[in-house]
Amino acid sequence: MTDPQKRLETMLGKLREKDMRITPQRLAVLKILAESSEHPSVERIYEQVKRDFPTTSLATVYKTIILLKEIEEVLEIGFSDGSSRYDGNKPYPHPHLICTKCKNIVDPDLDSLKDVTTELSKETGFKITSHRLDFFGICSECQKSI
Ligand SMILES: [Zn+2]
Ligand SMILES: [Zn+2]
Repeated sequence: MTDPQKRLETMLGKLREKDMRITPQRLAVLKILAESSEHPSVERIYEQVKRDFPTTSLATVYKTIILLKEIEEVLEIGFSDGSSRYDGNKPYPHPHLICTKCKNIVDPDLDSLKDVTTELSKETGFKITSHRLDFFGICSECQKSI
């Protein structure tokens, strides 16, 4: 996991470069995204922000995330049912392990991915610019309760 404090500073730096106003609510959204390794949904972030800022609207949270997406400071993991989860700690493409029961999403440490990318490029002549790699399964916690 990237140092949450560093992530927050990077996000703030980029937002300031774009002359974007940083309200306390926006800052709260940024903090949650920088600190979380759980890939929260917008609703989840909203619930957390509301604890400190009860007047925050869901739209504010959405708008902040859209802004962060534009400056590539958050990674969106979209699903076919239209739902999305977000990774603000690692805003670049990386593999995900997704539990189909509890919807838990984790970042595996997968060094071999670099080799796969190199191999793919060699084989196909593609210049790989991004990737999307999701593994679906049942996490160890959920396996216990079967
Ligand atoms: Zn699970
Ligand atoms: Zn992730």
